[in-house]
Amino acid sequence: MDAEIGVIGGSGFYSMLKKPKFTSASNAYGKPSESIALGMVSGKKAAFLSRHSKNHTIPPHKVNYRANIQALADLGTKRIIATSAVGSLKEEYKPGDMLFFDQFVNMTDGRKDTFFDEDLVVHVSAADPYCEQMRRVASAAAKRMGIRHHDKATVVVVNGPRFSTRAESKYYGNQGFDVINMTQYPESILAREKQLCYLGIGFVTDYDVGLEGRPDIKKVSTKEVNENFAKGISTIKELVAEIIKETPEKRTCACGSALENAVQTKT
Ligand SMILES: [Zn+2]
Repeated sequence: MDAEIGVIGGSGFYSMLKKPKFTSASNAYGKPSESIALGMVSGKKAAFLSRHSKNHTIPPHKVNYRANIQALADLGTKRIIATSAVGSLKEEYKPGDMLFFDQFVNMTDGRKDTFFDEDLVVHVSAADPYCEQMRRVASAAAKRMGIRHHDKATVVVVNGPRFSTRAESKYYGNQGFDVINMTQYPESILAREKQLCYLGIGFVTDYDVGLEGRPDIKKVSTKEVNENFAKGISTIKELVAEIIKETPEKRTCACGSALENAVQTKT
């Protein structure tokens, strides 16, 4: 085993590793977004992968999610911590807040979202698509560290790369969704198909297109989104290090047995 825990996020995470080793193996699904950095974090073997590549050249709809998840699985990783920026659809999810996803709604289109599209017909359960054990560990860590956070969040995942129209954003908000993002699908469910634990950490950068009925809360520019994310990155790194430290070796969740009873037929 080369790594116990995989971290998917921005290239800013590479600085968490002292003298990392890099591996860039392709797999049956292609090339991961970037070379994977291996090193120690909080006394545990960790693997870091930049989702959009080091120079941020891969847009959300072109990320090879299957190659990324397969690459981490090939390193022996059993757990993944994934970070991403989100836009808020509700006033109480404020810019600067952290949150731990517990549900997603997929509105993406055309992404390769399964490892089981030939030979085997497998219907994996997606009722609870995020690791419950890791979410509890993360919530407790954020609480201890005094970080403003939300233990749960439903994320609607859109294809991008464009942002939403006002009508779309209003629609998503009216459905009761909390935040919006472009990368939580199919990353989380591919991890489930590999029986890996997956913790999704969202960082609220702004309100999606502003908030309905609140002319004082406006949509911010992409530049401001990036600036807000940059401000949060040191806190996110501290939180990720704490979560890695506090994650118990034993998995008490159901993620590791996701394929039991899921295999239906062989063609
Ligand atoms: Zn789990």
